[in-house]
Parts: sequence; structure tokens; C-alpha cells
Amino acid sequence: MGFKIEFTDLHKQYKLMEAEIDVAIKKVLNSTKFINGPELGELETKLAQFCQTKFAMGVASGTDALLMPLMAINLQPGDEVITTPFTFIASAEVIALLKAKPVFVDIDPQTYNIDANKIEDKITKKTRAIIPVHLYGQMADMDKIMDLAKKYNLIVIEDACQSIGAEYKGRKACSMGDFGALSFFPAKNLGCYGDGGMVLTNNENYAKKIRMIRQHGSEIRYEHTLLGLNGRLDTLQCAILLVKMKYLNQWLEHRTRLGLRYSEQLKDYVQTPFINPNNKHVFNYYAIKTERRDELNKYLNDHGIPTAIYYPKPLHLQECFKTLGYKKGDLPISEKTSDQILSLPIYPEMPEEEQDMVVETVIDFFKK
Ligand SMILES: *Cc1c(COP(=O)(O)O)cnc(C)c1O
Repeated sequence: MGFKIEFTDLHKQYKLMEAEIDVAIKKVLNSTKFINGPELGELETKLAQFCQTKFAMGVASGTDALLMPLMAINLQPGDEVITTPFTFIASAEVIALLKAKPVFVDIDPQTYNIDANKIEDKITKKTRAIIPVHLYGQMADMDKIMDLAKKYNLIVIEDACQSIGAEYKGRKACSMGDFGALSFFPAKNLGCYGDGGMVLTNNENYAKKIRMIRQHGSEIRYEHTLLGLNGRLDTLQCAILLVKMKYLNQWLEHRTRLGLRYSEQLKDYVQTPFINPNNKHVFNYYAIKTERRDELNKYLNDHGIPTAIYYPKPLHLQECFKTLGYKKGDLPISEKTSDQILSLPIYPEMPEEEQDMVVETVIDFFKK
């Protein structure tokens, strides 16, 4: 093999825009406006436009972008919030951090997103909100979720940390719920060079509250109306993201093209990602499913192909949620999927020859 296959290649991406990034960073360094510099507002305007929302508030991480909306709605100890167990820990962690109770609903076996048909059974008098996660780059079944939210007067927070730019019936991720949350963790579809996140909303009152919460509950310096956090997005990250935003649509197109190209070649061997006809999938991850996952994973790694498992253990079985009282078998589709899912390398700059080598190696495994 003449080259090394990367799972995602952030160095290659940096090299393609090195001059622009370096200029943007220098500008901030010379301005010394490291906190709340002008790039923050500029980025927020651009992202609100991109996500089809009225307001965008930069925050310190995707996790904060989920936590702050729950703080803004005054989530109380004992309140319940419905979400999926087949996601990154942050989606549910934020609920429990506020002493509220995560209520897990099993996933759809095809999209791996929360099964919207199973939500209503779990709604009680204590339910305050639903956090659907748009997993891997595909939005959850939002019409059904929004109908339930309306019927039971619940808040919807879209966890779009993996799905900036994804669409459901032509509507962008983050534009349908009361809030949307984005992460700029480096490996996300729009990543910064550190931690970062964004809260999106159409509600002016919520926007105002999030702006206060990210800055110690304060609008006027040393006047603290609410309890908040130090949860700001710093100016350097904003400057970097402003450069990267110019390429975002192009990157998402490349990801979608590569994702569909994988599926075309692998569909006879593994379960390739099912794309709901309402959706535009932006492939933050390309995840296949097979009963021989562990063997295939080892084979690929032995042949120089990096892989990842998102996620090997569903959240209802995590030690930190032990007191919620779930046990193995409670959410069988999530559990089975955790045993069978495998993510293959994908990134916008991935050459087709590299992708072909991944495909050939997967096919070799099944032909042996
Ligand atoms: C990455 C991610 C988060 C958390 O984002 P951070 O920026 O790492 O805090 C939350 N939810 C999902 C689904 C994610 O993939």
C-alpha cells in the first residue's frame, strides 16, 4: 500500500486553506479581542442563515449547546426528558446533570434514530422535553416528533451535533425544534480547532436567555439575573469557523457523494445506511451494520483501514445511569445495533482510490 488511509484527515483539510486560516488567526491575535470579538457576531449571523433560524448563539461546546437550552426552560429536578440511548453520552448527560431524568426510547432499526412511534408511550405528566438526535448526518422523524410536542406541550431540542446541513423535507437541522444544538468538535462536519458549539432558535426570549446563560447569567456586567456558566465560544474559534464556513456546502456535497458511492458498492455485503426519502443525509459518519462486525473490524484494522464504533454501548446500560434502573434487554434494537455497527473512513477530501481500497478490503473479507 503506497499511502496511509485516514479515518478523517484534518491535516489535509488545513493544508488546503492554510493561508486563509493563518491570516484569520493572526488578525485575532493582533486585535487581542479573544473573548466576544467581532467574529462571534459574524459567525452567528452566518450560521443562523445557514440553519434557517432567526438566532444563533456561539457556546463553548456541543455539550453546552444541549445543556443551556435545558437551563433556559428551567428544567427542574424530577422532570423527565425523552431521548435515544444510541448516541454520544452528552445527549443524555445534560439531562441528568440538572437532576432531571433521561427517559430512553428505542431506535428505528433502519435509520438508528429515535423511533418516533415509540415516544408517546413514554410521555408522563413529568415530561418536559424531547431531545431527538440526528445521528450520523440524518435527521430524526421530525414531523411525528413535533406533532407529539404540540399535543403534549413539550420542548424539542434537536441534537444536530453530527448533522449541520442535513435536511428533512427541505428544512435544515436545527430549524424545526424549539432549539437546535451544534458541535464544532474537530471531527464534526464543521469543526474548529478546539471545542465549540452553537445554539439555534427562532424564539427571541430563548435567544436572550442563552446569551445570558453563556456569560454567568449576565447582560450588564456584574449584574447577574440568572445562574449561568462560562460557556462562550472564543474569538479564535469563530475566526477559524468563518473561513471553514465558506467550504461547508462543498464539503457536505463530497460527503454525500462518497456516502452514496460506498453504499452502491457495499450493499450486497452489509446493511448500508438507509436514507429516509424525506431526508438529505450529510454523512458525518458512514456506518454499516453486520452480524460479523467484530471480525470485520479486526480484518480492516489488520489491513491498514482505520474504523470506529459509534457507539459500542447504549446509554441505558452505562454505569453513570445505573440508578435509572435499566437492564440488558430493555431496549433491544439499540443493544443489537451497538454490537453490529461499524463506521468506515469518510471525509470530504477522501480520494476515490482510497475509498476503493476500503471497499475492496470489506469485500475481500466477505469473500474469504
Ligand atoms: C459530538 C456530540 C455531542 C457533544 O459535542 P461536544 O462539542 O463534544 O461537546 C453531543 N451529541 C452528539 C450526538 C455528538 O455527536
